[in-house]
Amino acid sequence: MYWEKDIETMDRRELDSYQLNKLNETLQLAGRSPYYRSLSRREELNFKEIKSIEEIKELPFTTKKNLQDGFPYDFLAVDLKDVVRLHSSSGTTGNPTVVYHTKEDIETWENLIARCMYMTGVREDDIFQNMMGYGLFTGGIGFHYGAEKLGVLTIPIGPGNSARQIWFLRKFKTSVIHILPSYALRLYSFFNEMEINPRKDLNLKIAFIGAESHSEEIRRKIEDLYGIKAYNSYGLSEMCGPGVAFECPCQKGMHVWEDHFYMEIINPDTGKVLPEGEEGELVLTTFKRRAMPLIRYRTGDLTRIIPGTCDCGRTHRRIDRIKGRTDDMLIINGVNIFPIQIEMILMRIPEIGHNYLIEIRKENYMDRLYIKVELNEEVFIGTLFELEKLQVRITDDLKSELGVTPVVKLVEPSSLPVSEGKAKRVYDLRNN
Ligand code: ADP
Ligand code: ZN
Repeated sequence: MYWEKDIETMDRRELDSYQLNKLNETLQLAGRSPYYRSLSRREELNFKEIKSIEEIKELPFTTKKNLQDGFPYDFLAVDLKDVVRLHSSSGTTGNPTVVYHTKEDIETWENLIARCMYMTGVREDDIFQNMMGYGLFTGGIGFHYGAEKLGVLTIPIGPGNSARQIWFLRKFKTSVIHILPSYALRLYSFFNEMEINPRKDLNLKIAFIGAESHSEEIRRKIEDLYGIKAYNSYGLSEMCGPGVAFECPCQKGMHVWEDHFYMEIINPDTGKVLPEGEEGELVLTTFKRRAMPLIRYRTGDLTRIIPGTCDCGRTHRRIDRIKGRTDDMLIINGVNIFPIQIEMILMRIPEIGHNYLIEIRKENYMDRLYIKVELNEEVFIGTLFELEKLQVRITDDLKSELGVTPVVKLVEPSSLPVSEGKAKRVYDLRNN
């Protein structure tokens, strides 16, 4: 059940001292990059030996903006000749964030993914269909090499082309998939159209879902529709990609691999480290990245450390489902709302289908929240009277939980726009 038992179940005190050693190593390594060297010249960072892991709090944060400003090579801690790959964000708003890997980094990452997959029960005789994007995005390639390392037959199909996905799923009796949660729901509509029941007509048992925020309700929905276990997978390119934190069979939070990363949760406004259990921004320090070590990187993702130990026996602490990014928060007439809260409410209503869209507009100097929801197939053919009643019920549910009255619009199944990559469901049109 463990890929690396000694590490995954390492005694907590041993893990703490392991982390301290690794932190000192990271500091030394980071000191070779122009960015961290310049911080030390300006006396904002001191490379002296750290005696207790608590002292990490005194080190400066690294932000996405720092990475963008340091484009292209300021964070590189090795010679360019030792770099074998780069991944990059799209960079639609300024310089892209580029992350470099040495050969060793790639091997470390492969092993990390193999560890995650093995933890959920994937074995050599499984068939793995990787429906995540390949290319500069880390989701596809990251899992691809991890699965091969584990020895699994890997189908590098990438996202989209649902008819072809289904053909492969059936012909090769695929047992494990890696898929965006939004795409898993969309793909299900194709099964419906083709009158295939994934619960009966496929051989699927496991899905890895991640790369975008999704509620527990969405996870349960995917598990239910496909008759599988869906495990939450978290990562970000700056740390390597997927493999940073992953759910075990207990499905009670994601284990952060603490032999690879040091985690802190901070108050995003003050930067102060929060106690275990409190929600805030996840900050990560790399321990094993060679090409581009990062110190106290502000991920922008909101979560909390789940107190206590996990029944699976792993000692690495867990984080809760990601609530969203700090900048996902919507302020609607003074009320703070995260899109995932809206999703949670919607997905508890059985008449609602697989997709929804949120729009915020300015009308008469007031914010107005519009929510378009797809109905499921059976409800869609109901009478106008039934639909009106349903609309009122959805509005009431949202109003009582959010404290804001939205305008709810019911739409046809599969009629809302979808993208091939991460879902975009929120459109804030207030400045238009
Ligand atoms: P970006 O989306 O910024 O271009 P990445 O592809 O590296 O960059 O995506 C990393 C981000 O995706 C994370 O910082 C987080 O916001 C989101 N993400 C990744 N996995 C999950 C997950 N399991 N749940 C929620 N959000 C996730
Ligand atoms: Zn566990």
